[in-house]
Amino acid sequence: MSSKKIPYKIYLDENEMPKQWYNLRADMINKPAPLLNPATFQPITPEELGDVFCEELVKQELDDTTPYIDIPEKILNFYKMYRPAPLTRAYCLEEKLQTPAKIYYKFEGNNTSGSHKLNSAIAQAYYAKDQGLKGVTTETGAGQWGTALSMACSYLDLDCKVYMVKCSYEQKPFRREVMRTYGASVTPSPSMETEVGKRILEKHPGTGGSLGCAISEAVETATKLDGYRYVLGSVLNQVLLHQTVIGLEAKIAMDKYDIKPDIIIGCAGGGSNLGGLIAPFMGEKLRGEADYHFIAVEPASCPTLTRGVYAYDYCDTGMVCPLSKMYTLGSNFIPSANHAGGLRYHGMNSILSQLYADGYMEARSVEQTAVFKAAEEFARVEGILPAPESSHAIKVAIDEALKCKETGEEKTILFGLTGTGYFDMYAYEKFHNGVMTDYIPSDEELQASFETLPKIPE
Ligand SMILES: *Cc1c(COP(=O)(O)O)cnc(C)c1O
Repeated sequence: MSSKKIPYKIYLDENEMPKQWYNLRADMINKPAPLLNPATFQPITPEELGDVFCEELVKQELDDTTPYIDIPEKILNFYKMYRPAPLTRAYCLEEKLQTPAKIYYKFEGNNTSGSHKLNSAIAQAYYAKDQGLKGVTTETGAGQWGTALSMACSYLDLDCKVYMVKCSYEQKPFRREVMRTYGASVTPSPSMETEVGKRILEKHPGTGGSLGCAISEAVETATKLDGYRYVLGSVLNQVLLHQTVIGLEAKIAMDKYDIKPDIIIGCAGGGSNLGGLIAPFMGEKLRGEADYHFIAVEPASCPTLTRGVYAYDYCDTGMVCPLSKMYTLGSNFIPSANHAGGLRYHGMNSILSQLYADGYMEARSVEQTAVFKAAEEFARVEGILPAPESSHAIKVAIDEALKCKETGEEKTILFGLTGTGYFDMYAYEKFHNGVMTDYIPSDEELQASFETLPKIPE
């Protein structure tokens, strides 16, 4: 097999596609710390979580032991519309870089929502529908998650209410129209529809909003309306679980050609695509069957893993969501206006946080002008215009390939290309006009934010 020429793209047949998600927690010795109730600081119960999330998703959120979870048939069929995502050998990039490294990427931008978020959106919408609910509420910042969720909800005939961060609502009118095409209602946040929104508008009239505030509005609406639940596009363990379809497909495709990656790279916002991509490989590492070098890449302007602390923190600014033990910059930390909207989150998924604390993974932060330079270099040879978020992974993949050029090592590199950048041309424009900046928070700023972390009684 290994003598076979590796094609530019490795596809899977329908019958080769994964039929189960892989729950990485089952193979972890140190399990992620339990979620806490924000009012009592006690471990949250399934009943309490059930007020906010669907029953089946609560089970998945709290399941630390079941290694494989069946993907329901309806979701498998939906996946078949836009999956498998091709695994591409970046021959053209390798040639351009003149590197002996072998570079592969898994592209998740081949659907209208333009990113991997659809993998979890369809799962969350499915379980809501299955429970007999009328609809779901959510927030969206950059817009990828809101778009993915509206696509999933329209497929299942479920109502979808999206709170979109106001400045993004105004800056990205086309994202909003895609969501409305799929029948979602889109409200700029903060809004006068919720108590939280009214409070914030009173205090800060004219604010452009924030992700934390939009989350609080969506949660409030879900708990107030009969037959509605709240859904979230990243950070939670259930989201990471659904995203393992990325890594499982990649592993099946690589195994077909006896390819073993040495380095696996992903960008990290809340951690769902990275966790999903590395899951089956990390499982082998945890079980002592194989070794891989994992690298999480984050923006220098929002350096959660590289400069954050490992502590219990709120997942939202309104402090209504459960507390999670994670690497965090503090729930009040407002990152500068970096263009990788999907990576501007103060915390990190708790599974990845525990693995990082235990030394199973490396993290690097990169500055946004260097990221856009890598994005452009990639676009020019591989033909895909990448999302700013995804380009963080491209930047480090190129760095590693150039290291191989120096040492002559023929390492195999796999990275996650999470989405397309068509809705981010405003950011590309700033880059081309030379007006993009690289803001890096000072130690004092971070320290001030850490001091606002909740004090959990022992
Ligand atoms: C949301 C998003 C991310 C970051 O989210 P994770 O949960 O960390 O994966 C990365 N890339 C794109 C294109 C996104 O839309």
